[in-house]
Amino acid sequence: MNRRELIKSGVMAGALSIIPFSNVFAGRQTVLLPSEDDLSAFKKIRLGELELFILTDGYIHEKNVNTFAPRADVPQLKKILRDHFRPDSFIDMAMNLMLVRTKNRLVLMDTGMGIFADERTGFILKSLQKAGFSPADITDVFISHAHPDHIGGVVDKQYNLVFPNADFYISKVEHDFWMQAYLKDFKNSFLKTQPELLHQLLPPIQKILKTIRPKLKFYDFKKTLHDHFSFQMFPGHTPGLTIITISSGNEKLIYMADLIHSDVILFPHPEWGFSGDTDLDIAADSRLKILKELADTRDRAFACHLPWPGLGFTRKKGTAYEWIPESFMN
Ligand SMILES: [Zn+2]
Repeated sequence: MNRRELIKSGVMAGALSIIPFSNVFAGRQTVLLPSEDDLSAFKKIRLGELELFILTDGYIHEKNVNTFAPRADVPQLKKILRDHFRPDSFIDMAMNLMLVRTKNRLVLMDTGMGIFADERTGFILKSLQKAGFSPADITDVFISHAHPDHIGGVVDKQYNLVFPNADFYISKVEHDFWMQAYLKDFKNSFLKTQPELLHQLLPPIQKILKTIRPKLKFYDFKKTLHDHFSFQMFPGHTPGLTIITISSGNEKLIYMADLIHSDVILFPHPEWGFSGDTDLDIAADSRLKILKELADTRDRAFACHLPWPGLGFTRKKGTAYEWIPESFMN
């Protein structure tokens, strides 16, 4: 199948949440979304002495409900969606990104779909502008993992750096994995059924990582960076997925990135997995580990793909968990 056929078949658009990557391989799609041409927005919150800006990049529209969670009981999954007043014919996932202003740094965590964007994604720069910043203001970009919806915004279509003054951070494990990833590395993944997709995906990911190499640093998991940031690896969704704890005074927030892709499906069934997981078993272990930690500590968390703005708390429910979104008064 060529790219157009893949999109038409629905294999590419969602299979993974890693992709609606319409633009990078050919011209922009002409599907128009009524009155949704500008999805940009931001929300400002505080954490101790820090200012945090949640920026939206848009949202991912996943049509492949049957394979969204590869180990799910599909009729049960669809019933859960209906029971939560959601359509059972598609699953939309938010694209929440975070900007943190410290005394002397402006840190962006993940960069959105960028060169892979379709009509529903690619709004981060507009959201950034609405929040009052320009790309040149960013001093650091922390990359949680190298999937397209997280690193696609690092470069423009000519592979020039979008954030020219920033240092880039990623885990060494993540970097090294993607630089030499092959189909055989996905044998415990739903992605093994999508070889064409992987073949199309790997070269641009590697090209982006090569482009940022002169400014690339690897996370030091033993040290706090810029006074407020510490890092932990939670492998599985990708081998070097890194979550970030932001601390200021007595307050803290855990950026759990892509450890979980659905509030109503994967909190009660973390073992069902996600179609974009590189290793379903390791990802489920990491997902369970973070959910247990969050439920035990009652820590506030932020997630890329949970409903906007992606902030909330995790509570034990029966033998699994539930997501309690943070409430806002303005
Ligand atoms: Zn993602």
